[in-house]
Amino acid sequence: MISSMGKQLAAAFGFTVNPESAVLFGNQAGYMISAVENTSQRMYYLTFPARPSQGVPALLPQNFLGQLKAQDKQIAGVMAEGYALYIAVKMKGYSKTLAAFQRIFQAVIGYFQQYGFVSCCMECGTTEAVGVYALKGSCQFLCDECAANAQARLQEMAASQMKVISNLPMGLLGAFLASLIGVAAWVLVFQLGYISGFVGLLLLFCALKGYEKLGGCMDRKGAIAVAVLSLIMVFASLYLCYGIEIFKVYQEDGFNIFQCLGAVPAVIEVNGLAGSFIRDLLIGWLFTGAAGAGMLINVIRGSKMNSTVTRLG
Ligand SMILES: [Zn+2]
Repeated sequence: MISSMGKQLAAAFGFTVNPESAVLFGNQAGYMISAVENTSQRMYYLTFPARPSQGVPALLPQNFLGQLKAQDKQIAGVMAEGYALYIAVKMKGYSKTLAAFQRIFQAVIGYFQQYGFVSCCMECGTTEAVGVYALKGSCQFLCDECAANAQARLQEMAASQMKVISNLPMGLLGAFLASLIGVAAWVLVFQLGYISGFVGLLLLFCALKGYEKLGGCMDRKGAIAVAVLSLIMVFASLYLCYGIEIFKVYQEDGFNIFQCLGAVPAVIEVNGLAGSFIRDLLIGWLFTGAAGAGMLINVIRGSKMNSTVTRLG
C-alpha cells in the first residue's frame, strides 16, 4: 500500500510507484533514488545507490550526510554504508514533505556531481545492468549477479531456519521454571489486592524466554505451548493465592501451607467462593491474553521469513 501523498510525491518527481512494496523509485539528473514509505513510523526511507567514480572524495559521504542532517529538521537519520547513502525523512504534510525531498535531492545530487559519483549496484559497485529489487521489506539497487546471489542467500537462510526446530519437552521445562518468577510476582501483587495485566505480561514474557533458553529457539509450536502453559500458570497462581489466604486464617489452628493448599477446593465450595474464584480466573486470563496476544503474534510472525527477491524495475 502507498498513501495518496506517496503517489503525489512520485508524480512530482516522475517516479514509478510499487504499491505492494510501498516503494517509489526513479532517476533525478541521472542518479537512481528510491523511497520506501512507512506510514506507521511516519517516515520515508530514501536510498541513493552510488560510489565515487575514482578515488576517495575530499568530503566523505558520512560527513556530508552529517552536515545535511544538522541543517534540516525534517531529516530523522542518515547513514552511509557500502555503496549507498541512506536518509530517513519525517512524513509531514504534502507540501512540507515535497519541499524536503526537493532540498535533499538537490543537496545529494550536488554532492554526487561535485565529487564525480555514479549510480551503482549497492552490493558490488558495478554500474552495469542495475535493477530495483524489493527484498525483506526494503528496496535495493542490485546488478543481475548480486540479485541472484541475494535470492540464493535468502533461500539458504530460510531453509536453515526451517531446519531449526525447537525441543518441545525441554522448552516446556524452561518455560515452566521461568514462569515461576511470574507466579511469585502474581502472588505478591495479589497480597496487595490487585490482579494486574502487567504481571500477566511478565509471566508470559518469562515463559517465552524460558522456552527459548532450554528449547533452543522459538517457533510456532513453542508459541502455542507457551500460551497454553501461561493460562495454566495463571490458574496455578490464583490457586496459590487462595491457598495463602486460607493459610493466613488457619495457621493458628496448626495447619501447614500444604494442608491449606489441599483444602482450597473444599473451602471454595463450603464458602460459596466458586463464583469469585472463576471471576478472578477469567480476569487473570483476560489480562494475560490481552497483554500477551500482540507479543505472541509477533513471535509467530517473526518465525516466518519472507525469502523472495522481487524485481520492481
Ligand atoms: Zn552487484
